[in-house]
Amino acid sequence: MEDLLTNNLPGTRDLLPDEIARWQMIEHHARRLFFQYGFLEIRTPIIESTDLFARGIGSDTDIVGKEMYTFIDQSNRSVTLRPEATASVVRAFIQNTMYRGGGATKLYYIGPMFRHEKKQKGRWRQFYQIGAETLGSDHPAIDAEMIEMALRLIESLGIKARLLINSVGCKNCRPQYVDLLRSELQNYVPNLCEDCRRRSGSNSLRVLDCKVESCQPFIAQLPVITDHLCAECSGHFGRVKSFLEDAAIPYEILPRLVRGLDYYVRTAFEIVSGDLGAQNALAGGGRYDGLSEILGGPPAPAIGFALGLDRLVMVLPEDSISRWEWRPELLIAYMGEPAFRRALTIARELRTEGRSCYIDFSGGSLKSQFRLANKLKAEHVLIIGEEELASDRYSIKKMADGRQWEITRAELGSYLKTLKES
Ligand code: AMP
Repeated sequence: MEDLLTNNLPGTRDLLPDEIARWQMIEHHARRLFFQYGFLEIRTPIIESTDLFARGIGSDTDIVGKEMYTFIDQSNRSVTLRPEATASVVRAFIQNTMYRGGGATKLYYIGPMFRHEKKQKGRWRQFYQIGAETLGSDHPAIDAEMIEMALRLIESLGIKARLLINSVGCKNCRPQYVDLLRSELQNYVPNLCEDCRRRSGSNSLRVLDCKVESCQPFIAQLPVITDHLCAECSGHFGRVKSFLEDAAIPYEILPRLVRGLDYYVRTAFEIVSGDLGAQNALAGGGRYDGLSEILGGPPAPAIGFALGLDRLVMVLPEDSISRWEWRPELLIAYMGEPAFRRALTIARELRTEGRSCYIDFSGGSLKSQFRLANKLKAEHVLIIGEEELASDRYSIKKMADGRQWEITRAELGSYLKTLKES
């Protein structure tokens, strides 16, 4: 019992203050960049009706079949913690008639997702995604723009990554390919892993996605969808590639790249990192032209992607975060009660001016206050003693080089301000 009270659930974790700078920095970059591309934020509920995911993701997918956190609420309703956000965004798009103005609707989201997955490095049961969706256009330039935006975010964080793309066809050409795949698969069924044996009948496309080593030689012999696209899908794919080339974005075509979710058509892509081990996908995305109609909405061709925030944090280079770590600009050290009161006044005034100040309330020696300044990596220490109280002139020490000089209260504010602006 005690264990349950002092430990979080498996696959979840606390994000503690000393690592939060990484998360905030990535979120900040994403918001700024997405805005440049015309995307606005949407926040949908974390709980939705279970049916939304069953319909939107497909009941024979691993997510819906094995991984959802589902419960019956007090109104006897089956409710699920969202395992992804695309279905919710499309639901909100339909419910709020966001299609009414015509043109493309561009939305992004940042938040937690929940999947009861097997625990592995880089896989969590509560994990975070940054995602974007464009609804209302089937233009291949949109596919290229979404890919460009995801890559720019990753690269602006100093992370190196590779882009893998494919086309998974549409409702006209994919069924014939899937029939062919299913009949070819019959030759290999006894050699495949348990999951693939199960999928080979019901969800044969997913076999292509299998990561189990012993399945790979057999998967390599299966027919590829890019040889079976209809003229429209093949034309769309050709245009996406040429838009990527115009933007000087290198890509690799991976004909066995399929997405786990049923509603994907045409463009599918993944962005992978060399630094992540087996769970190397930083982002996955693709086109889902039919989803709005599956959920009862109007036709709305769409494309989206989701980036794994947890994984971006894992591969973020150390040097890109130091600017984001919280450190006080000033620690105000004092000796005695009157100096403490002056310290409080100065801190209050400086905070109103937008500066960050820290005061040690423990009433320790000047030496211990300096120790705290070092621990917090304070940029400066201001010292208030009896003499300083009387003259309103203070000693200030710059911690980086140990330089110390005198400063008046009036000069202090403008000194700290110019430092931040320079
Ligand atoms: P998906 O929604 O499955 O296409 O996943 C999109 C991205 O979210 C992946 O490329 C991963 O970076 C991330 N992701 C998916 N599942 C997890 C998980 N269980 N733990 C951490 N990140 C995940």
